[in-house]
Amino acid sequence: MRTAVLHAPRKLDLVDRPKPLAGPGEVVVRTAATAVCHTDLSIYVGEHPGVKYPVVMGHESTGVIDSLGEGVSDVKPGQHVIINPIIACGRCDSCLRGAGNLCRVAGLFGREVEGSLSQYVKLPSQYIHVLPPRLPLEQATIIETLATVRHAQSRVGVATGESVVVLGQGTAGLLHTRLAVLTGATVIAVSRTRWKLEMAERMGAQHIVEASVDKAVEEVRRLTGGKGADVVIDAAGGAETLRAAMDMPRLQHISALLRRDQHHRLACPDPSGHESEHPADRLGSGRRQRIHHRQVSAHRFGGGVRGIRAQSEPHPADRHRFRELSSCGGWSFP
Ligand SMILES: [Zn+2]
Ligand SMILES: [Zn+2]
Repeated sequence: MRTAVLHAPRKLDLVDRPKPLAGPGEVVVRTAATAVCHTDLSIYVGEHPGVKYPVVMGHESTGVIDSLGEGVSDVKPGQHVIINPIIACGRCDSCLRGAGNLCRVAGLFGREVEGSLSQYVKLPSQYIHVLPPRLPLEQATIIETLATVRHAQSRVGVATGESVVVLGQGTAGLLHTRLAVLTGATVIAVSRTRWKLEMAERMGAQHIVEASVDKAVEEVRRLTGGKGADVVIDAAGGAETLRAAMDMPRLQHISALLRRDQHHRLACPDPSGHESEHPADRLGSGRRQRIHHRQVSAHRFGGGVRGIRAQSEPHPADRHRFRELSSCGGWSFP
């Protein structure tokens, strides 16, 4: 089989490798589609801390079950699947209480664990989820991000009739906007980018605010009759949006803070009035969450997904990197 191996930053080669064999409890999946996100991009250019090269990237992946190892009976070859890319240890305190997404030593598929830029991948059967057969496998890669978004909204409990601010309208932000609209919330979509707001409008956002975040705070207050929003979701992931997210909710309400870049540290105000620094998520890519502050803030760390097939576009600064990655090693992404 062919595998894209990133030997070192910016050195991606196609190599031939033996097709994997499923061991007990494992499945082999024929890869159908992999979305490329900001995490991949930072691994590709060597800016993702702690990555050991060579590495096989790819964690937003769908495919078709090829073969089953001994003891796997709940799925069958030919079924379409999506891969849950957080490979948990199963032994730490988080895993033992059923929160494998918070595993202290989890490896990300495509980073610590060999990923899906390969014709076949092998993984334990619990990390695949069967998809409806008619769902296009390329489109289905976005479920990886949608799952994070859905989880964040279920954590903060977005409800019909509530006002929800979504800061940032990249892929994750747009998914937040759409999901909150479908829940019956009134969505205030905030971005500095006009065309993203137009997409947010098409996703059903009732209000769009084209402004810097400090101006957006005033606008959110105005749109909510001075009260502030019921829920604020930061899908932009900068220090200034985090601050704004703290100023936008109405009293005793909730911010879901979705971080794009899991590697820098953010200073954010805590309720005692002191500034405190919260260590960023070390494992990243949208699976870990922590509750910060005495007021409830469900931090959901996001992957900032800008997949090539996603509904958003890379930040202009990243566009050339995506282009470079897409033409590297003889791969041609659609
Ligand atoms: Zn990703
Ligand atoms: Zn664990």
